[in-house]
Amino acid sequence: MSKHRIGIMGGTFDPIHYGHLVTAEVARETYRLDQVIFVPSGQPPHKAPGSVSDFWHRYLMVMLAICSNPWFRVSRIEYDRGGPSYTIDTIREFKRIFGEGTELYFITGADAILEIFTWKQPEELLSSCRFIAATRPGYDLGKLENLLGEYFSRSVSVLEVPLLSISSSELRMRVRRGLSIKYLVPDPVEIYIHHNGLYKEVET
Ligand code: NAP
Repeated sequence: MSKHRIGIMGGTFDPIHYGHLVTAEVARETYRLDQVIFVPSGQPPHKAPGSVSDFWHRYLMVMLAICSNPWFRVSRIEYDRGGPSYTIDTIREFKRIFGEGTELYFITGADAILEIFTWKQPEELLSSCRFIAATRPGYDLGKLENLLGEYFSRSVSVLEVPLLSISSSELRMRVRRGLSIKYLVPDPVEIYIHHNGLYKEVET
């Protein structure tokens, strides 16, 4: 019997946008994942406290964005655990929940994976699940290959997603400048951002 395959879509999602959604859907199809669980960081360990929107705003925007896809879920596992959101702790927790018969695929941006040797217990992490590094076409993969060495072929798959030219930081900048974000995020996310007055302040 083939193993159950689960995608863990890790990110800050401040805010979630169509680039993230297309990445998760293409990963689901390409790697025949049974479901994709979006895991918004509770407390990103690499970002200054207060520089990221409140968890509940990010969590609710993810929920609004994914609710029409029956294969997508959202988890508050990193918020509920408390403390800095280390990916190794999240992967260990999902392994405990799903058991040995499940393969985990951690999906995130290639630029985030470039920093992986600054994360907690990177060797154990790279050995405990498969990484899907999402990039835009034309991204220089040489950096990732050089950095990861043998881990690159053993643990990492690269997924090119044209829509990843959208970025959360550009979206925040557009809202701050009063520019439109229509067609870059799902309508309910756009409405949520405006209704709650998110991203109007200059970032610290
Ligand atoms: P980031 O540094 O804000 O983002 C780096 C790049 O990756 C950005 O271009 C970002 O685009 C993109 N990206 C992030 N998540 C993505 C996703 N799921 N799909 C496609 N592109 C994505 O990264 P981050 O969001 O804070 O962190 C990414 C993941 O790495 C999270 O799960 C985080 O917990 C984990 N992480 C763990 C540790 C640790 O364990 N010590 C340290 C750092 C990060 P957008 O800005 O448009 O999303």
